[in-house]
Amino acid sequence: AAKRSQAGSQVYTPSFDAGSQESLSLLGELRRAVENGELRLFLQPKVDLRNGAVISAEALVRWEHPQRGLVPPMQFIPFAEQTGFIRSLTAWVLEASADAWERAQARGQALRISVNLSTRDLLDQDLPLKIGAILKARAAPPQALCLEITESAIMDDPQRALMTLEHLNAMGFKLSIDDFGTGYSSLAYLKRLPVDELKIDKSFVMAMESDLDDAKIVRSTIELAHNLGLSVVAEGLETAKTWKLLAALGCDEGQGYYIAKPMPEAQFMQWLANWRP
Ligand code: C2E
Ligand code: CA
Ligand code: CA
Ligand code: CA
Repeated sequence: AAKRSQAGSQVYTPSFDAGSQESLSLLGELRRAVENGELRLFLQPKVDLRNGAVISAEALVRWEHPQRGLVPPMQFIPFAEQTGFIRSLTAWVLEASADAWERAQARGQALRISVNLSTRDLLDQDLPLKIGAILKARAAPPQALCLEITESAIMDDPQRALMTLEHLNAMGFKLSIDDFGTGYSSLAYLKRLPVDELKIDKSFVMAMESDLDDAKIVRSTIELAHNLGLSVVAEGLETAKTWKLLAALGCDEGQGYYIAKPMPEAQFMQWLANWRP
């Protein structure tokens, strides 16, 4: 399952036969990547759409492969999920995010970091304790982190997901439903989830300027979220016009290339110091 990327370098595709030679070697490579410090934490800001204030940042992982260069998450996250390696990867992302929070704090910058959790993470009974320990080691409050869970990960096993989410909520973590609108969750379920935030999937946001149906979906999702007492984040905010449209619809926060792309921590802190909305 290897193919040529546009740049001509070898990249892995997410489809693997479990147990195949190639899949075993990728798993070995991923293990080594964590041991050798080849993973990189990128940060992308989320801003308040009324005034541009930076409220938090999403942690997005990349793999700096010694031969293949910067490998995007879609080329190894699905594989990590299939093999169960995602638990080690998530642990790494949580540690790196807590470190980044601590360094921002030391510079007087309050910054909540959003971490993506996968289906497998939600099935890990020990996850809440692990996260608690990572924060405790840095004297960080639960509000330092927000946990993003995709709608489809929740719907994989709604009962178990609900239990884990309730546990995480009781510990004081902010919880967010990611990729909302793509995972067929029932509204009855949504009502029961102890979440604080809903992220509208970028496919709707990116199309809302040109497609009236997408604009309607965005508008009704914002209404739905607000009626349920949730704050709404629009991802995939790529133009000034989309910012205006979203603000007019009452959307709380935005994230997207128009504001900034995901960046390494040092670059992010520099961007933050110069950011004038
Ligand atoms: P996601 O959680 O939905 O993250 C948002 C993705 O949209 C990111 O892609 C981000 O770079 C991209 N994006 C942000 N703004 C814009 C925009 O204005 N336009 C467009 N076209 N794209 C935008 P990225 O970093 O490639 O990550 C892809 C996916 O990989 C993430 O989607 C998430 O599902 C997964 N992922 C990334 N890091 C992690 C991680 O640490 N753990 C887990 N479990 N999954 C991760
Ligand atoms: Ca996310
Ligand atoms: Ca909560
Ligand atoms: Ca998303």
